[in-house]
Amino acid sequence: MNRKYRKVIIAGNWKMNMLPSKVKRYVEELRGAMPKFKTCNIVLCVPFPMIPNLRKATRDSRIAVGAQNVNEHEKGAYTGEVSISMLEDLNVKYVIVGHSERRQYFGETDFTVNAKVKSLLDAGIVPIICVGESLEQREFDLTMEHISYQIKAALHGLAPEQVRKCVVAYEPIWAIGTGRTATSEQAQEVCEHIRAIIRRGYGARVARSVSILYGGSMNSQNSAELLSMPDIDGGLIGGASLDPAEFARIIEATDQE
Ligand code: PEP
Repeated sequence: MNRKYRKVIIAGNWKMNMLPSKVKRYVEELRGAMPKFKTCNIVLCVPFPMIPNLRKATRDSRIAVGAQNVNEHEKGAYTGEVSISMLEDLNVKYVIVGHSERRQYFGETDFTVNAKVKSLLDAGIVPIICVGESLEQREFDLTMEHISYQIKAALHGLAPEQVRKCVVAYEPIWAIGTGRTATSEQAQEVCEHIRAIIRRGYGARVARSVSILYGGSMNSQNSAELLSMPDIDGGLIGGASLDPAEFARIIEATDQE
């Protein structure tokens, strides 16, 4: 982490879990368990139907409301989709874009990721751009090429001032939901590479201010070590964010550098 230049962010990704009626209780437990001092920015990316309850429960707190996806079109005949202005109206501050599960099951491409990133930035919402290699790509020594491609595509056409506002999450696919975490060295190597690509494209000032998160089976046991790496500025946490006490322990780990 480097608090001098960038935000430390711990973001939970509930995926398709939890119920709207359970949100209030979760937030009460999290608020009771998390450190009172401000260690980092906390975000909860929840399913759409839970956003109003989360918004209510987190009023007067330092927990920001996030979503897990959005449609890039402004409005219209896109049955079943949710627009950026709908999220804006609900005071959503962060949206996950290009999560590997959306790429794998719902046809998200690097080009739709780019369109979503642009539209979110126009609305003043922070995109959390997910990138990550598969196990095959890692074994074929293609990780860095793949990550470069994903980052370049996601940020294509953005001005440096817009890139500065983005958050990137490095999530190796083989580590998501598997209990198999990248070592802190593996994660650092890729996060450093992501920062180098941003530096080459948009300059040192932009690169040093972009928060880069690690995601993939992060929990209270491994978070302190991952967060001690210089280019890892926080975490995107799936399974471990469903338990408020466990999520609070990860938040606490941001204070243990
Ligand atoms: C995720 O879904 O973004 C994620 C990192 O999941 P998990 O922490 O469960 O591996």
